[in-house]
Amino acid sequence: MALNHFKILSLLLVLTTISCSKDTGNLQKEASDITKKVNSTLAQYLPFENTEDFDAAQKGFIANSEGSMSFTFISNQTTPSTVNPSLWRQSQLNNISGLFEVTPGIYQIRGFDLANITFIKGNTGWIVVDPLTTTESAQKSLDLFRKHKGNAPITGIIFTHSHIDHFGGVKGILSEKDIKNGVPIVAPEHFFEEAISENLLAGNVMGRRASYMYGNLLPKDEKGSVDAGLGKGVAVGTPSLVKPTKTISKTGERYFIDGIEFEFLMAQNTEAPAEFMFYMPKYKAASSAEVINHTLHNLSTLRGAKTRDSLLWAKAIQTSKAFLANRTDTLFGSHHWPTWGQNNIDEFLTKHGDLYKYIHDQTLRMANMGYTLIEIAEDIVIPDSLAKEFYNRGYYGTINHNIKAVYDFYFGAWWDGNPANLYKLPPVDVAKKYVKFMGGEDKAITMAHNSFQKGEYRWVVEVMNHVIFANPNNQKAKNLSADAMEQLAYQSESAVWRAYFLTGALELRNGVQVLPTPQPGSPDMIKALPFSNFLDFLAVRLNPKKSTGINLSIAMSIGTNKYTITIENSVLKYQIGLQSDADLSITMSKDIFDQLLLKQISLADLGDKDATVSNKEEFQKFMSLFDDFEFWFNIVTP
Ligand SMILES: [Zn+2]
Repeated sequence: MALNHFKILSLLLVLTTISCSKDTGNLQKEASDITKKVNSTLAQYLPFENTEDFDAAQKGFIANSEGSMSFTFISNQTTPSTVNPSLWRQSQLNNISGLFEVTPGIYQIRGFDLANITFIKGNTGWIVVDPLTTTESAQKSLDLFRKHKGNAPITGIIFTHSHIDHFGGVKGILSEKDIKNGVPIVAPEHFFEEAISENLLAGNVMGRRASYMYGNLLPKDEKGSVDAGLGKGVAVGTPSLVKPTKTISKTGERYFIDGIEFEFLMAQNTEAPAEFMFYMPKYKAASSAEVINHTLHNLSTLRGAKTRDSLLWAKAIQTSKAFLANRTDTLFGSHHWPTWGQNNIDEFLTKHGDLYKYIHDQTLRMANMGYTLIEIAEDIVIPDSLAKEFYNRGYYGTINHNIKAVYDFYFGAWWDGNPANLYKLPPVDVAKKYVKFMGGEDKAITMAHNSFQKGEYRWVVEVMNHVIFANPNNQKAKNLSADAMEQLAYQSESAVWRAYFLTGALELRNGVQVLPTPQPGSPDMIKALPFSNFLDFLAVRLNPKKSTGINLSIAMSIGTNKYTITIENSVLKYQIGLQSDADLSITMSKDIFDQLLLKQISLADLGDKDATVSNKEEFQKFMSLFDDFEFWFNIVTP
């Protein structure tokens, strides 16, 4: 994810705020009295006197090192008025980092990356579960582990699921020699395909939205990023990938790694398309992967992704309860701190599973009564017996947007079934008409200012969005909308809602800061990508105007891949094999083909040894038909 640039940006932010010190319109503001009141109401509702989670997060602490991503400004002081008190609590818990003994034989390093890395003692060495996002963060955690637990070899790797914060650091743990020697790498069925392709076709827009969601562009302070809900944030560095040697497809399947028996519990298409949990009889301990966490997770993520199946998710948690009953003393996850004791685990799994089930069932109950997604999300009240458990709070996913996700899963979210919403005008057109009907920009701003004083921040954001889309140069409107988003951020219990609102405020006040574009994939992942996936992505880049009237077929030998692609009707299609009647034939390595498409080299640079192209002019024309995607596109302005 795009995390390597927040430092540069926070510096820019400081410079901008200094140079604009006369006009305070675009400065960060304090919490309003209304925001303070909203936050103190929540502080009174939740059982903050219960500090068991703090004991659990510190239990078994061995040591820490400079690899920790903890935020130094977060301490046990009282909640700042600019942070939701429940989120502040979570940010303190996620700040507790280092090497911990989970139970004798199982160790975790927490707070070195978004996820945890877990070490399980085998007969001859250590089995590593979920080796973090980057080789750098994995190496730092391995160094800390080695310092305190010795130099026994790594004898196995487990990837619990196909998200990069759980496998990207694998080459920081395994050497090339380990990989050659066939150290067992165990993963759920479809792990590899999902890991390399899950976000490929929509990668650019997801990446840009992720820059909002994880707060990468924000300073780390009481008015900026305080947490990411699942952990402090994603580590910076180089991701890697190694193909599993063994995949698991059935619940109840058993497999021995370095003499330790693992029993697997499948959770496919819950939090990730490929995911499992597992139990180890020897340790009376289980991993809940990322299915069960100390937060409500996302049924739909703000960065955008396919909507997840809440019913399957609820059932996976229910199944885990029966699977682990009467034999599990320790439950640890790939995020947050473990849970100990059979009664605690049982209650946790019951209430956490019930929350997902409640969200699913109640959304459909109300949908069947004719309510639509925004209405349902506004109206559903979570029972106190579920809502007062901190692990059921929405630090990452929220009740509000997860209800909308359930609706989306069953009915689609683009339309609520009301014909008034069936064929709406696009945002700029609608904005211009609204502003005119409201009596012009100034009048709309004056009225919105009154609404702001009353604490109607959601309404202010909506009205000012019309003014901004009608006239993106109206800085007064942008500043007022930014102020309202900021108060919404200060009230948000969800770290990702907070980050989204604050980043919106930042870009409304200062415009989009164009920074170096983050690389979406690592060389390992790009190398591993099947050529057909690559062609699917190429098809998404085809510009319809440029390809109007073009009828072209190309027999392509790209490395070992032999495909014939066709462009007709402004559509790119492909089939396996080289067709002899193709208009054009080319032969080159994948590397050269990639460089040509990325415009890093041109055809003229290539010698006869590098490539064979039957008609260079035609091929040149073909290469010019594709769009490049701009990463820093506008979000809060048209
Ligand atoms: Zn994760």
